[in-house]
Amino acid sequence: MELMKHKEEFLAREVDYPDIAQQIKNKIISEKNKTYACNSIWASEVAHDCERYLVYQQCDWEKAKQADDSLLLVFHEGNLQEDQLLLELQKSGIRIKNLQISIKIEEANITGKLDCIAEIEGSNGIPANIPIEIKSMSDIVYNSINTVADLKKYPWTRKYYGQCQIYCKNDLWFFPECYLLAKNKSTGAIKLIKDFDGGNTIKFNPEYWDWMVQRGKKIKEIVLKNKVLKMEISNLQAQLTGKDTKKETSIKNKIKKLEDKIFYPERIKYDLKVCKGCKYEHICIADLSDILGDVINNSSVIEAIDNYLICIQNRENFKEAENNYKNSLACLKSIFPLKDAIYLTDKYIVQTKIKKNKNEYLSFEIKNID
Ligand code: SF4
Repeated sequence: MELMKHKEEFLAREVDYPDIAQQIKNKIISEKNKTYACNSIWASEVAHDCERYLVYQQCDWEKAKQADDSLLLVFHEGNLQEDQLLLELQKSGIRIKNLQISIKIEEANITGKLDCIAEIEGSNGIPANIPIEIKSMSDIVYNSINTVADLKKYPWTRKYYGQCQIYCKNDLWFFPECYLLAKNKSTGAIKLIKDFDGGNTIKFNPEYWDWMVQRGKKIKEIVLKNKVLKMEISNLQAQLTGKDTKKETSIKNKIKKLEDKIFYPERIKYDLKVCKGCKYEHICIADLSDILGDVINNSSVIEAIDNYLICIQNRENFKEAENNYKNSLACLKSIFPLKDAIYLTDKYIVQTKIKKNKNEYLSFEIKNID
């Protein structure tokens, strides 16, 4: 064999084999880690839970906190799978007319990129065009979302419905419906997210679309005013010399006055699922205790939460751990009895919410402070 001929040569080699897995990861992370200026509201974000976030996106994009490396790899994998599904869609016999089409709604400064438009044969022989948006999801999310009503379960899936509406109607076209195609990243399963009426396509919703456009117009106006103020501030900052003079003090005062005029919409009520993952949390909320109240500095409370988190983990793995879980849950309920409240400890933020299964029950969302 050709390889064997070089056996001696192989033995003589002294190669320090690098960690090529790390090399690939570094490349992906460095590409995903880039920050770009944002000058419009993305169609994928216009239905975001928080308007303040949408203003930060355009006025303070350079201050956005990057996702951690593991999350960047998850995003990358999701994008790869969405690209792959688009290829499979083309091979499946469905006629794809346009791919990756940029759209906008000028009056509301909303922009987006639709995955594709397909041509579907009508029963009367007349074809119809329809936009298709593709989303990849984790196994848990995929299994819990079947209709647009289910999209409200997660902060990021809540935005999908709005995105589909923008793809139905924008400055380029109007389509009365669109497809939302979902792929399970773990199993490869594929399905359509059904509309409220159980239909295969998501129907255009004029009221919801109008709400988003009005929201876009409002954000556009705020951003424009803020950008003018920021420009004036940066012109004044260029005049600062660092010397302790009267002129310097007067410039600093002017800067302060202009900074005070920069406007951000009200914060939403603190929500762990939305705010803790928000890339502007560090500039929006300087000190959590300012908005959540006193820090609970009690080691037995932390112990009870630690125990609860361990029990949840074990509950997933061992049936016999169920009792421990129930006890720790009862313990948390006695420490944090209020419904729809947020407690701040020196290690955790604990949010209580009422959820419905067959009956109403109190559920706990817990995140580390850092
Ligand atoms: S931290 Fe919460 S309130 Fe602040 S911008 Fe983000 S989502 Fe909005």
